[in-house]
Amino acid sequence: MSALRVYSIFRSLQGESTRAGLPCVFVRLAGCTVGCLFCDTRDAAVSSGRVMTIDEILQQVSAFGCPLVEVTGGEPLEQPSVHALLSTLCDTSGDVLLETSGAYPIDEVDARVRVVMDVKTPSSGVAHRFLDRNIDEIRRRRGEVKFVISDQADFDFAVERAVQWNLVESNPVLISPAAGFDAAVVARWILDSGLHLRLQLQLHRVLWPDVQGDI
Ligand code: SF4
Repeated sequence: MSALRVYSIFRSLQGESTRAGLPCVFVRLAGCTVGCLFCDTRDAAVSSGRVMTIDEILQQVSAFGCPLVEVTGGEPLEQPSVHALLSTLCDTSGDVLLETSGAYPIDEVDARVRVVMDVKTPSSGVAHRFLDRNIDEIRRRRGEVKFVISDQADFDFAVERAVQWNLVESNPVLISPAAGFDAAVVARWILDSGLHLRLQLQLHRVLWPDVQGDI
């Protein structure tokens, strides 16, 4: 039977992506070896989690009665059984998101899943982990591409990649200021760029800066 290492399952408002502001159930999987310098979910990244079957996960998710579900981490794609989980969630939920680092292939992800994929910026220290072949796939799926911005060099990198990969017209490109970085500065950079980029504030952190988990 397929099982996964789960860090937590909780309900909150979706804080990121084009679904920001909607109630959402999060399945946060345990474990990540990508190693970003600014990891904001380090507890989950280093945790070995609790082993749960897909049926057990589904039971907890469905108890919330929420049509929007996100599988996140950690890095969900480090667990092979995540594909079965995602497909099962698609069979039972209205809208399924996957949040992933961009370091692992997304082409095996169920086509019904809305993929939100990071492109790691230089300040993360792991920009080299990005898998270039994911760009063709995210464009084909019209998935969401996220850049976390800690300084001007990160923003310039994001603009360069978004233009080079011809993403701006085809996919939502999310520009997300890192925790503690002045979002108004990033907003100004977006306006000055003249590009169709979307400022993404981490809404859950604005509303509940000290809460991680169920609200
Ligand atoms: S990919 Fe995500 S969970 Fe993994 S180290 Fe980076 S920020 Fe943390």
